[in-house]
Amino acid sequence: MSHDPNCLFCKIAAGEIPSTKVHEDDEFVAFRDIRPAAETHVLVIPRKHIATLTDCHESDAPLLGRMLVLVARLADKLGVAYTGGETGFRTVINTGPGGGQEVYHLHAHLLAGPRPWLRMG
Ligand code: AMP
Ligand code: ZN
Repeated sequence: MSHDPNCLFCKIAAGEIPSTKVHEDDEFVAFRDIRPAAETHVLVIPRKHIATLTDCHESDAPLLGRMLVLVARLADKLGVAYTGGETGFRTVINTGPGGGQEVYHLHAHLLAGPRPWLRMG
């Protein structure tokens, strides 16, 4: 299924639910986490509805690769890239209840900023 009408992040990608977007293209949307755990906390999602990382197949490898590269480019754009010294950011994909996943549409967290973080630290 490329769009799940009951999925929160599909609705955000379609603009049916408001979000603070920091990036949008044909394949991905990135927006600020509504409950940020760090000064910079952005979620990067594919427009395609994939529930979890476990649901990904070999055929999704190009999408996953582009998603990670997008995280890196957004880190540049948001001023949190690794440029030496103490700089840098964290990329997290929670999978299933055991991994702390709350929203079942694949997403990568991009976290950065001064510690302590509220969670995911
Ligand atoms: P996860 O626990 O990996 O599934 O992460 C889901 C994230 O989505 C959490 O950090 C939530 O704060 C965030 N979230 C939930 N609803 C929204 C929303 N409407 N807009 C932005 N972020 C959201
Ligand atoms: Zn979805």
